[in-house]
Amino acid sequence: MERTHNWTTEEWVKADQAHHLHPFTDFADHAVNGSRIITEANGVFLTDSDGNQILDGMAGLWCTNVGYSRQELADAAYKQMMQLPYYNTFFNTATMPSVELAGVLADLAPEGLNHVFYATSGSEANDTIVRMVRHYWNIKGKPGKKTFISREHAYHGTTMAAASLGGMSYMHNQADLPLPGFTHVVPPYWYVFGGDMSPEEFGLAAAKAVEDKILELGADNVAAFIGEPIQGAGAVLIPPATYWPEIQRICKKHDILLIADEVICGFGRTGHWFACDYYDIKPDLMPIAKGLTSGYIPLSAVLTTDDMKDTLGKGGEFQHGFTYSGHPVSCAVALANIDILQRENLVEQVRTDTGPYLGERLAELVDHPLVGEVRHLGLIAGIELVKDKATRTLFDSGLNVGPTCKNHCTANGLIMRATRDVMVMSPPLIITRDEIDMLIDRARKALDATAVDFGVI
Ligand SMILES: *Cc1c(COP(=O)(O)O)cnc(C)c1O
Repeated sequence: MERTHNWTTEEWVKADQAHHLHPFTDFADHAVNGSRIITEANGVFLTDSDGNQILDGMAGLWCTNVGYSRQELADAAYKQMMQLPYYNTFFNTATMPSVELAGVLADLAPEGLNHVFYATSGSEANDTIVRMVRHYWNIKGKPGKKTFISREHAYHGTTMAAASLGGMSYMHNQADLPLPGFTHVVPPYWYVFGGDMSPEEFGLAAAKAVEDKILELGADNVAAFIGEPIQGAGAVLIPPATYWPEIQRICKKHDILLIADEVICGFGRTGHWFACDYYDIKPDLMPIAKGLTSGYIPLSAVLTTDDMKDTLGKGGEFQHGFTYSGHPVSCAVALANIDILQRENLVEQVRTDTGPYLGERLAELVDHPLVGEVRHLGLIAGIELVKDKATRTLFDSGLNVGPTCKNHCTANGLIMRATRDVMVMSPPLIITRDEIDMLIDRARKALDATAVDFGVI
């Protein structure tokens, strides 16, 4: 039964290159440079096959909220696998964990979101939303309302519909996307698009871009607006305070459904259970994933309203679902994960202690010659590296300033991600003040080394 080879790092890398195609990876580069092999993890630290300890400033991919190696989550999975490892939720069937979790989620979610449809990934949750919304408007007798408005730099996943919702041009270019019926407007990214406006003025202008698009298409042709409360993969774009209230007013006025993608923001990332609580957003649909199980096992869901449920209920059987919708093992792990978040007061700890502390420590980096702006809320942050702070001028993207800084981070035992030239972080919610100090020390070392590389001192 023992299947794990006792290989050296070099042998692992070779075997990985031989047969494994990685997501969001340049295959030619991988054939030359290979992968880092992660072997285990504990708390906020990863260990690689050479025995290096690395502080995971990204919580995996923004997901391991309760940290690594939590026995309770393994126990919950084991127990459920022994009792009922699989059964589906199609055709009026349910399993106990899927029922229990739906109730827990409806209690935790922003007011009005009372119903839960399960899938396995954030992308599937967003595909589900496209199906639900189109069906909804057909049943409502408004079949013209089909177009989704999103933002540039949005990330909503990688399937054809989810990537169409997303605003990543490099993804669109490779697959002839977006599909018909998806359009994108300027994001609330003041640093780059704000020009001479104050952030507050620009928040209103970016919201007006949504209304202008609605008027251009005709409200009778627009189904929904989708936005991450804070755009994560787009480089932690934290909107000015004026943005979300105006977006809500506009959606209401034009009878357009509002989708708040909480796949990153949900489950405590911002110091609130959902960023909708912080921004007072009342969405019609809310996809969740990532922190729902802290990434221990795949699970996602779409939360929605009585109106959506009642309307779809008039359309006969909803012809949509996944083999693993409401998977009992995933739901059992999600319940145990939520239990940890509640029992250890992790959301409150982020809001009142570690989040503000990270903010204080990050503020010290603003004087660094490379740093144009630090954006931060709770335990999500972005550090904008720029050529000229006074004029908000970015580096030429061909210089790879962000990726260079990322490599310096890795060399200093820190995982931080580079999106363009923005260094982004999203550590596990269990991170302590001492570990935040370590994170900031390592980040500063990487910034200093990057400044030397590019002669910015
Ligand atoms: C990661 C992400 C998704 C997609 O989730 P997958 O599980 O990778 O399909 C969707 N929306 C947001 C905001 C995300 O960050």
